[in-house]
Amino acid sequence: MGAGLSGAVIGRHLAEAGHDITIIDGRDHIGGNCHTERDADTGVMLHVYGPHIFHTDDEEVWAYVNRFANFMPYKNRVKTTSQGQVFSLPINLHTINQYYGKTMRPNEARAFIASIGDQSIEEPQTFEEQALKFVGPDLYEAFFKGYTEKQWGCSPTELPASILKRLPVRFNYDDNYFFHKFQGMPEHGYTPMIEAILDHENITVTLETLYDPAMAKAYNHVFWSGPLDGYFDYALGRLGYRTLDFEKFTDEGDYQGCAVMNYGDRDVPYTRITEHKHFAPWETHDDTVCYREYSRACGPEDIPYYPIRMVDEKAMLAAYVDLAKQSKNITFVGRLGTYRYLDMDVTIREAMDTADTFLETVQNGIPMPAFVQDLL
Ligand code: UDP
Repeated sequence: MGAGLSGAVIGRHLAEAGHDITIIDGRDHIGGNCHTERDADTGVMLHVYGPHIFHTDDEEVWAYVNRFANFMPYKNRVKTTSQGQVFSLPINLHTINQYYGKTMRPNEARAFIASIGDQSIEEPQTFEEQALKFVGPDLYEAFFKGYTEKQWGCSPTELPASILKRLPVRFNYDDNYFFHKFQGMPEHGYTPMIEAILDHENITVTLETLYDPAMAKAYNHVFWSGPLDGYFDYALGRLGYRTLDFEKFTDEGDYQGCAVMNYGDRDVPYTRITEHKHFAPWETHDDTVCYREYSRACGPEDIPYYPIRMVDEKAMLAAYVDLAKQSKNITFVGRLGTYRYLDMDVTIREAMDTADTFLETVQNGIPMPAFVQDLL
């Protein structure tokens, strides 16, 4: 269930091992939230559900995606507008020197930031503690506090430190947003890549089809990449998510000169503007398409994007995990099925591991676990 990355990779792996696979998806396209399509008016490749940049340290995953798509060199370099200026992200020596109007060298900047960081915080638990310890109050206010309040709809004192740990702080001029060994973009977008993964004689894909538990009877096993709580008809309540609204607009030429411009100020209502032709720098287009991105609480009719995973959600998650573990012949996979903030490379790695677990268990008459990972 689900023709996104998880479903496609698991399906392909098992199809190659000789299994017959049916993949259904409620949407009218494959690819889940990685879906890309060309804008009819401008020809720009759109990341329809927001930007996806492929980056990984996992050589096997990198080889896997390169088998199904031609990857073009792409480095994510993000800027942020804050307090009336444009700065470089992730926080690096340029950001620090510009913010403080200095010309510090790496060691000077390191010592300076250590002197303004709150060293009384030993083990940061919250997002705010993590920021105050590693960058101090000024940079926290300028770049993280307002953005994070908009993105998550709560105070950074309520969020786990792990969210900020996604971002490095650098004491050199490296402004590559990611620190992984491999980074790139599929030349023709993600949807053709996922189409190629699904292109196997043992795989049938049916779109615009909702799951009905009666369907499962015809199969040995179900891999569920829809929402974990959705599988149980939200019987224990709804797990919290943030959803995104995209305000699409078209302009001539170059709107902002980069692919991603964040907005750190709390009084700018959107979190960022993405300009999609800059995600494909090898293409040329006269016109340009941008998305203004707004984040808000996800309602029942909205598309879930980011799992919130705060205290309340974690308690509910534990209850759903118990329920899932009592279910037979089903495994919950992917971002929605396991309720985690997963990057694409991790999603693919876990899908490969899940398929391997299936081949080692079910094929040998052993029940397959509901989860291949520890979710709590
Ligand atoms: N973040 C921030 N300011 C920024 C960029 C990110 O405060 O300019 C915080 C924010 O809380 C965000 C988290 O860091 O959710 C992780 O950022 P990332 O860029 O990985 O978010 P994604 O692109 O996955 O939405």
